[in-house]
Amino acid sequence: MSTSETSHTPTGERTVTGGCHCGRVRFEVRVPDDMRLLDCNCSICQKKGFLHLIVPRERFTLVSGDDAIVTYTFNTRVAKHMFCGTCGIHAHYIPRSHPDGIDVNARCLDLALEKLPWPVDHFDGRRWEDSVDSIR
Ligand SMILES: [Zn+2]
Repeated sequence: MSTSETSHTPTGERTVTGGCHCGRVRFEVRVPDDMRLLDCNCSICQKKGFLHLIVPRERFTLVSGDDAIVTYTFNTRVAKHMFCGTCGIHAHYIPRSHPDGIDVNARCLDLALEKLPWPVDHFDGRRWEDSVDSIR
């Protein structure tokens, strides 16, 4: 498949695009074919409907929106919960589990939700300390 929404490379990965709702925040992310998404039930992810796609930071390129992003922190303040100051959509952030990485909301990719090619695992974020080793 080769469309404007996804492009395959020979190296077992694809580049996908996404962003916030209003379009100020736009990004590209290189996703390995063996990616697994995480559906987390913690206090903030459940309410946001955040579907986690966690990659090393060098796989993420912010195309636009540096000036639009607002950052919210709480608790340990390691996670940087970033959202668009215009439309309020949380398209990506820096997660507490991988502070050197980027966590993209797979629901904010341009691909339709049912076309996402990666399996989804449950993550028990309500028991974060007991669960985090399983994804590191
Ligand atoms: Zn926006």
